[in-house]
Amino acid sequence: MKRSQEILTLSAAIAILFASSAWAAPQQMGNGAKNSQNRSLAGTCITDDENTCLPQSRWDNSRNWRNNYQQGSQANCTDENCSSLELVEITEAEAITLAFMREEEKMARDVYLTLYAAWQTPLFANISKAEQQHMDQIKTLLDSYGLPDPALEEVGVFNNSEIQALYDSLIERGSTSQIEALQVGALVEEVDIADLEKAIAETENPALERMYTNLMNGSYNHLRSFVRNIEYLDYTYQVQYLPQETVDNILNPATVSRGIGINSNSSKMVATSSQFRPLIQNRNGRYNNGAVLAKDNEVTLGTSFQPDNSHVGQNADLLTMATFTPADSNNQGMYMRDKTGNWQQWDGDLNNAVASQTQQRLNTNQDIDIYQGLLPAGRYQISTGYRLQDGTSILNGQPMDFSVE
Ligand code: MN
Ligand code: MN
Repeated sequence: MKRSQEILTLSAAIAILFASSAWAAPQQMGNGAKNSQNRSLAGTCITDDENTCLPQSRWDNSRNWRNNYQQGSQANCTDENCSSLELVEITEAEAITLAFMREEEKMARDVYLTLYAAWQTPLFANISKAEQQHMDQIKTLLDSYGLPDPALEEVGVFNNSEIQALYDSLIERGSTSQIEALQVGALVEEVDIADLEKAIAETENPALERMYTNLMNGSYNHLRSFVRNIEYLDYTYQVQYLPQETVDNILNPATVSRGIGINSNSSKMVATSSQFRPLIQNRNGRYNNGAVLAKDNEVTLGTSFQPDNSHVGQNADLLTMATFTPADSNNQGMYMRDKTGNWQQWDGDLNNAVASQTQQRLNTNQDIDIYQGLLPAGRYQISTGYRLQDGTSILNGQPMDFSVE
């Protein structure tokens, strides 16, 4: 990767911010809300490899987004818009986990290849390709550290006996019926998410943290796909491994999103464990992304977030940026909220984003008020977050995204 090409351009930064909402394709709208992501795009729906209906990008870098998506990431790196992280020394425990995750990703791939052969469900073929990419990402890091590769060539054969036993039992179960095969897929993803969460919690190595986060965002997408397919066959999905609340949040991705971090000169993504929870509410209730709100109802918008642990106690500027596209218009404007609560035009440069609150000491739980009142008809996408004194910005990885009409 060439350093000179690593500056995140305005469009790339905005694309990363707002692209992620395109991946959500929320299926479960509360409170009678309609899915505007499919609807408002007037027949422009494109389909990705997992048959998720995606809005077409309004920026001309959809290829990158699609590449990112295939790797399952919201803030993933393609060679054009992201730089490599320095490789810091790997500990023995991290090396063991990395080797384990390599075989776990192989297990996922092999389960899906085998269940595809059994049932010809296209989803298995598609997701097995993503798992191959996950395996490749881990192999790249193993190679970078000069570590041996535990993965065996043959499908369904593993070095790790626990993984072997799990694989065998999953194939047995998945061979009984197509619905059981889909349940097995969802279980694989739940287990993967749990192991990746643990791996992320146990490392401070940025390269590992970022790769695991990419893999985990991929698993979130896969879990959603399996559950959608299960529900399509008129079954209700019962959580199999993770806490119910965790799965609820994953299946309703508007509820919680991981933050994304961008360094001071917008040249690099930085790893972050921050989490954001949006609030889109009117007198009829609370809404998810994709909601269509009536324009004669007052709206309350806000975000609560948990900063990165390492940022708690630091002073930060709180940021709120929005795009607004008026109804019946393609003229999208970009705005930032200032200290007086007014919306100023924004040029899209994070360094030029004014703070809605300055020098706020970050607590473990932080709230940002965004807006209360009537909103003109149109589509809204809102990013919130904080900027540390060293210029690093942490923003919601999945912007709020809704329409008013
Ligand atoms: Mn995976
Ligand atoms: Mn997966």
